[in-house]
Amino acid sequence: MYRAVEATRDILPGEIERWQFIEQTARDIFARYGFREIRTPIFEFTDLFKRSVGEATDIVSKEMYTFTDRGDRSLTLRPEGTAPTVRAYVQHSIHKAEESTRWYYAGPMFRYERKQKGRYRQFAQIGVEVLGADEPHVDAEVIEMVMFFLASVGLSGLVLHLNSIGCKTCRDAFQEDLHKTLAPLIGEFCSDCARRYDRNVLRILDCKVDRERVAKLPSILDNLCSACEEHFTAVRGALDDAGVSYVLTPHLVRGLDYYMRTAFEVTAPGLGAQNAILGGGRYDGLVKQLGGPDVPGFGFALGLDRLVMILPENAGLPAAADIFLVVLGEAAGKEARRLALTLRHGGLRVVLSPAPRSMKSQMRAAGRSGARYAGILGETELAAGQIILKRLSDGQQEACALGSPESLMEVLAHDRS
Ligand SMILES: [Zn+2]
Ligand SMILES: [Zn+2]
Repeated sequence: MYRAVEATRDILPGEIERWQFIEQTARDIFARYGFREIRTPIFEFTDLFKRSVGEATDIVSKEMYTFTDRGDRSLTLRPEGTAPTVRAYVQHSIHKAEESTRWYYAGPMFRYERKQKGRYRQFAQIGVEVLGADEPHVDAEVIEMVMFFLASVGLSGLVLHLNSIGCKTCRDAFQEDLHKTLAPLIGEFCSDCARRYDRNVLRILDCKVDRERVAKLPSILDNLCSACEEHFTAVRGALDDAGVSYVLTPHLVRGLDYYMRTAFEVTAPGLGAQNAILGGGRYDGLVKQLGGPDVPGFGFALGLDRLVMILPENAGLPAAADIFLVVLGEAAGKEARRLALTLRHGGLRVVLSPAPRSMKSQMRAAGRSGARYAGILGETELAAGQIILKRLSDGQQEACALGSPESLMEVLAHDRS
């Protein structure tokens, strides 16, 4: 027997409805904020991710699905969605047509991650990018939208963590400061931090192991330049105006140079140590780094696999069929197929009993299917030009004329969810 490749999986009916519910809610809410969808290829030139995600990151150094194609090109299955989105933005010179651009993407990403519960090597993300706007109210508006979306899919108890990581100017000074402060202390930190000390000292603030030691380090929020300070104050003010609450989290950082100012993350209870379901922030230098104009950017990405895990049980329930047709006899079967066609064209969900079986076993199947009604059509009913509609929740039944499917549809549409 063939099985799905390790750390990949099938999403079967029963679970897929939860995915569809999240995706539809995202599309609906993002559209209300002026976002439009972009779809990029699943694979790109490897170089794109090296340039944008950074060669020193775990993603690029250890986790990419990179292969050489038949034309001897080095290609990579996309490990994230921002780089392809920005690549498309630059390639199609969108900045010449629009002053600011609001795009979202949704789809599978690929990373060769260590095997652990809830982590898949093909996983799905939804992400949003605003290109061409650097006003603080844009940061706040996108964050407000995320929280609105998460509440709309039924999640509660979430915590929004907010920080500013400054700009090149104030961050460079802060990093120098941090280096000096850490010089006598770095021996006490974990081995990952020892490596970060030379390569990317800011990431030490993000260490999950050294939380207590990190808390004693200077905070970037106390070291912002006046322009960054002003930007951050405005972001916070706009969030307050929108009624969005947040926790100031000075150790929340982003590792790459083009990230600046606003950084945020949303954590959820019940996910253990790796409890972030989404992260985002401002990345004003990225478009330029990828060969485009000097256009600011702001965005976030959220992992659907983990979101589905913490969704309330009753969210995105499969839509039950409106009617299950229970049919006895060949003539009734023909009539039932004709009726099913009419009802389906009229927008109703119809199940036709799949095989000629006894009335009793068909009724049992109707009950198991979760359909709201059984429509019983045997020789007697056919002779009387009727179909018996039986509401499966309480057994109440009534006869409807076969000759007027409109009245049948009226009954079926009545208490439809
Ligand atoms: Zn600054
Ligand atoms: Zn550490």
